Amino acid sequence: MARIVMKFGGTSVADLPRIHNVARHVKREVDAGHEVAVVVSAMSGKTNELVAWVQGMPKATGANSPFYDAREYDAVVASGEQVTSGLLAIALQSMGIHARSWQGWQIPIRTDNAHGAARIADIDGSFLIKRFGEGQVAVIAGFQGIAPDNRIATLGRGGSDTSAVAIAAAVKADRCDIYTDVDGVYTTDPRIEPKARRLPKVSFEEMLEMASLGAKVLQVRSVELAMVHKVRTFVRSSFEDPDAPGMGDLLNPPGTLICDEDEIVEQQVVTGIAYARDEAQVSLRRVADRPGVAAGIFGPLAEANINVDMIVQNISEDGKFTDMTFTVPTGDLDKARVVLDKVKQTVGFDVIQSEAGMSKVSVIGIGMRSHAGVAATAFKALSEKGINIRAITTSEIKISILIDSAYTELAVRTLHSVYGLDKQ
Ligand code: ADP
Ligand code: ASP
Ligand code: MG
Repeated sequence: MARIVMKFGGTSVADLPRIHNVARHVKREVDAGHEVAVVVSAMSGKTNELVAWVQGMPKATGANSPFYDAREYDAVVASGEQVTSGLLAIALQSMGIHARSWQGWQIPIRTDNAHGAARIADIDGSFLIKRFGEGQVAVIAGFQGIAPDNRIATLGRGGSDTSAVAIAAAVKADRCDIYTDVDGVYTTDPRIEPKARRLPKVSFEEMLEMASLGAKVLQVRSVELAMVHKVRTFVRSSFEDPDAPGMGDLLNPPGTLICDEDEIVEQQVVTGIAYARDEAQVSLRRVADRPGVAAGIFGPLAEANINVDMIVQNISEDGKFTDMTFTVPTGDLDKARVVLDKVKQTVGFDVIQSEAGMSKVSVIGIGMRSHAGVAATAFKALSEKGINIRAITTSEIKISILIDSAYTELAVRTLHSVYGLDKQ
């Protein structure tokens, strides 16, 4: 007997037949004698709809911020998962399985106070473990928990992955299976490069980079938790026949295992290519060149919860001024401009220029640590396709390049092919 957490994403629970299909996957594991907790997302498209409803409401008048109350945002957007958890419990009961739904606050899954992008602080697994002992399957609403202010908090988009891994850690599960609409982690998004290959294993470090650089197959925080708590996490497909041979394999289920790099025998120099659209470039012109300027700019942006990336600073010839260029998610651009306008006088700069419609394309691989020339290969390949590079950042195991969004697909395919990642 093993203890397994199974997570099903939005497309896997998109309608009633698919929820029934998910129930068959769960039944397979229950019939094999395992203890099972299931984490579900909202039906695909539902969370987007709920977010759009919130955004369509008038903003509070007189408030000092042009934004809505994040606690009410959470009250609205967490509702999608409540629906699917109940529906799946009903589907399981109809198959004779002892199951019940759980909302985040009932377990409880405790988070911090950062409504809209909360982090899990603690999960009390004792109730779940007690119910496992009674043969009950727990069907848990993903994406949500309860904040110290006693109100529902959501974990940021894609957060059900994090719910699943955190629960697996809390109940000391033998395995956490992330079921989705692809059968594993690929060398790049298979939707834009059909020649992408499925990776049998990928290291935590590379998966962290891929996720934070745009591969939305796993939420970044879920990978961090899997790495810290050593949760054996697989990414696999819910669309395969639940009863096909090998689907119930305990040690080697079909899919991609996220694991320590020592477990990977044949390490490639480049493992994958990720991309993120909806980046915006912000440039502050003629910034006074003195100590404290960067802190004066990026401190307030951080306090406003704006993720700044790709910072480039140029020093003018006379040494008195500098230009500061950086990227933020397009969705945060208006907020960033408001924050920057406020610090303009104290920091001292001339103008803020900004441009949305950028993409960041990244090359990821642990092998880069010990191989030179990986970046040069990317720059040459992109230049041969006439793609202009606007900014570059590198780390030990990745290179990120900012380009115009119109060239995203071309850049991804070009890099995928130049590093030999295409399917034979
Ligand atoms: P779910 O609703 O199940 O959480 P997501 O849409 O969040 O699913 O994530 C799955 C999607 O991630 C896939 O459909 C695929 O288009 C995308 N994706 C991006 N990069 C990758 C990658 N390297 N490997 C696999 N899928 C990827
Ligand atoms: N339903 C949430 C979202 O769409 C959480 C998730 O699916 O992981 O972001
Ligand atoms: Mg997801």
